[in-house]
Amino acid sequence: MTFDALGLSPELLRAVSDEGYTEPTPVQSGAIPLVLEGRDLLGRAQTGTGKTAAFALPILQRLKPHANSSFSPARHPVRALIVTPTRELAVQVEESFRGYGRHLPLRSTVVYGGVPMGPQDKALSGGVEILVATPGRLLDHAGSRTVNLGQVEVLVLDEADRMLDMGFIDDIRRIIALLPAKRQNLLFSATFSAEIRRLAATILSEPAEVDIEPAVTSAEMVEQVVYLVDALKRRELLAHLVRTRDLRQVLVFTRTKIMAGRLASWLDRAGIEAVAIHGDRSQPERERALASFRSGEVRVLVATDVAARGLDIEALPQVINFELPVQAQDYIHRIGRTGRAGAPGRAISLVSLDEEDDLKSINRLLKRDLRVRIVRGFEPAIGAPRASENGRGNGPRSYGGGSRSGSSGRTGARRSPARS
Ligand code: AMP
Repeated sequence: MTFDALGLSPELLRAVSDEGYTEPTPVQSGAIPLVLEGRDLLGRAQTGTGKTAAFALPILQRLKPHANSSFSPARHPVRALIVTPTRELAVQVEESFRGYGRHLPLRSTVVYGGVPMGPQDKALSGGVEILVATPGRLLDHAGSRTVNLGQVEVLVLDEADRMLDMGFIDDIRRIIALLPAKRQNLLFSATFSAEIRRLAATILSEPAEVDIEPAVTSAEMVEQVVYLVDALKRRELLAHLVRTRDLRQVLVFTRTKIMAGRLASWLDRAGIEAVAIHGDRSQPERERALASFRSGEVRVLVATDVAARGLDIEALPQVINFELPVQAQDYIHRIGRTGRAGAPGRAISLVSLDEEDDLKSINRLLKRDLRVRIVRGFEPAIGAPRASENGRGNGPRSYGGGSRSGSSGRTGARRSPARS
């Protein structure tokens, strides 16, 4: 199939061709005609499938009749609102709108927390047709009346599963209360969990569904290996691997932001330059951390699943799972950061005995067993208690991180969804 067959206008076809896209991805060929028809949509698609263009292109086309070059802000009310869980994703989505809309006189801007409101107020006051926002900051702007959402025609909830994980449900409901009742709604999520279905039922009206299977096959591109490790020697094994293999540009995943911060400090103290990236950091801090990682100044970037979403870094030589993710699906997201576009990548997972069930879930999802190795000196002690013997989550054991000071609070943090 080609983009021409989807009913997009010449300006959009030109932009798509400027981007170098030759054919639509499955989520694009599925969603674009439905969105153009004005249908509500429930889409299951992960980042990396081309889902941004799947909603941005038809939204731009639907807004095309409103395009104008008037200087009056009143002629540029917000007509499309895209809500995303993270600042990085918001920035990326707005950049995509700019790119795909480059031949149309439609305006867009992005607002997110952690930076001063002033410049955003200014961008909003000039009038924009397309607004990309994270929930909290959008409500701040609505509260201070720097934005009026009374003329929104299309609402997109992007990565809605993440928004629920991050506790944004009340904010989303508050935002929806500010919108006209009659509008088009698009909801994208990596999963169709019961919670997402419930949310969809309250927001979408007779939605069409587009369901793109998670890209398990892309996992085949990545050389994957599991190192069984003594839970108390996890940090040391990570440092050992980075040093002995001279690994650079290493993206390390932890489950919690507390662990991300601790691990980065520990690595730094151990002489391996590392930074953590998470939502508690201000936007300039996050940008500085990313820039120093990209330039090679820091060797290791430690991130949670949530923080890593929307981070514009890919095609990395390797990722390391310091801990396995809570959701097996996140393993695919994580390793998708490496081995892109035909470049070989490597994913290393450090797995302690108490993570056996998590490893099994990942193997089930991949439909094969990951290779398991041990490094002498770091192997789990024979007879070390297993989750099944110890009642994982309750015992006074340290789960990873090599924390020798006991684990109070640690296991609780581990069971809760990674937030940042
Ligand atoms: P997304 O899932 O929206 O984050 O997109 C993932 C990447 O795929 C982005 O870098 C897009 O520029 C790229 N992309 C989107 N659509 C296409 C397409 N039809 N052909 C080639 N690349 C695409």
